[in-house]
Amino acid sequence: MDKQARIFVAGHRGMVGSALVRRLSAAGYANVITRTRAELDLTDQAAVDRFFESEQIDVVLLAAARVGGIFANASRPGEFIYENLVIETNVIHAAYRAKVKRLVFFGSSCIYPKACPQPIREEYLLSSPLEPTNEAYAIAKIAGLKLCEAYNRQYSTQYVSLMPTNLYGPNDNYDLNSSHVLPALLRKAHEAKMKGEPTLAVWGSGTPRREFLHVDDLAAATLFVLEQNVTEGLFNVGVGQDLSIRELAECICKVVGFEGELVFDASKPDGTPRKLLDVSRLIAMGWHATIGLEEGIAATYRDFIATHAGSVPAAAMQA
Ligand code: GDP
Repeated sequence: MDKQARIFVAGHRGMVGSALVRRLSAAGYANVITRTRAELDLTDQAAVDRFFESEQIDVVLLAAARVGGIFANASRPGEFIYENLVIETNVIHAAYRAKVKRLVFFGSSCIYPKACPQPIREEYLLSSPLEPTNEAYAIAKIAGLKLCEAYNRQYSTQYVSLMPTNLYGPNDNYDLNSSHVLPALLRKAHEAKMKGEPTLAVWGSGTPRREFLHVDDLAAATLFVLEQNVTEGLFNVGVGQDLSIRELAECICKVVGFEGELVFDASKPDGTPRKLLDVSRLIAMGWHATIGLEEGIAATYRDFIATHAGSVPAAAMQA
């Protein structure tokens, strides 16, 4: 890809968008274009049209979305379906109208049916019903990838969809009511350690299994897809390995240095029992994740402390 290409990263303040900007800059892309929400409201169709008409964008990385963990998804489904549908339709349609040839759309592994065979292959999409706790979000993301497919077919665009597994890394959301499990447990373990508490509350039974990808690996996969000139399709992005929520909690406690006991809160939902992606499509093309889970959590903990917790305990500095 041309290092002078004008690349619009939509959602650059989020975890995915900020990782993309870091990666693009490190790789020498000179024209990375961003807009804050105050400068460009992606739910405002006229504003999005005007932006694309004036900016001569070559490539769009569509990482802007309403995202959240199991509690936020289950309690605010209207916001999740509406905002994601509107952002996708506005950006994808305006990009097509402005003759933007290339676009990468980011979804999530929750687009796949609840009872899928594991590991989940791309072709299991729409083969049976979705997990109810995040159905609204999943439907919006399925609509986004179908928009890309339909526009490719009708208008010969080259819009590609990446479906990452559960992500973590710098600029994650640490609000306990809306966050995903990894940042939530990282924060809870840190606070329990600082306060000298004897226990750490983990939602659900601890038995659901999840796969975790460091967001820098997703950014690397995105550049890989662009630089390989992939022109269409749906690609899972993950590490190819999962673990139980209990094992994740134990790993986080080890990194943080919290030695208390885990207490499981059965009043909270488990969500889908397992969500492991089959990543052989990208692996066959030559990409694979490189950041190990414990190493990735340690780096994320250092970032959390630097940005959220004020002071850095010695244990975290060494992690
Ligand atoms: P999901 O992958 O869409 O289900 O989203 P989450 O990352 O929010 O939750 C994954 C699993 O972790 C679920 O089984 C949650 O019940 C469990 N979990 C355990 N403790 C927590 C917590 O403190 N916050 C969240 N969000 N999930 C938790």
